[in-house]
Amino acid sequence: MSADCLFCKIAVGDIPANIVYQDDLVVAFHDIEPQAPQHVLIIPRRHIATLLDLTRDEQLLIGHIHLVAAQIARQRGIADEGFRLVNNCNRAGGQVVWHLHFHLLGGRRMNWPPG
Ligand code: 5GP
Ligand code: ZN
Repeated sequence: MSADCLFCKIAVGDIPANIVYQDDLVVAFHDIEPQAPQHVLIIPRRHIATLLDLTRDEQLLIGHIHLVAAQIARQRGIADEGFRLVNNCNRAGGQVVWHLHFHLLGGRRMNWPPG
């Protein structure tokens, strides 16, 4: 855990979040500022700052996050219509929280190209 990391604090329960799923490896919770009718953030419990900090040891973890995303999409009723899974990496990618997270967005039609 990184002492001054918002998402590490959510992962251990020090900061409250509306959690929709959790297990030994990941936590998923509603985004505080939703950009779609369904907007869930999926994070690893382990502190990893960005996608660029991933190591080979984390290959299974990233696969797991994708399976969890699919499960949450089905449970929340957005799987059949479709959804988007997004990682913003570094500043130009739109990242503002420096703990790896994937945005699961659905419940409306997603635009392409993204903004
Ligand atoms: P990023 O721009 O880094 O990819 O996404 C960070 C996301 O975290 C944003 O969508 C933002 O709304 C969300 N966020 C920031 N602070 C909090 C918080 O305290 N709680 C929750 N649930 N989401 C947050
Ligand atoms: Zn962290």
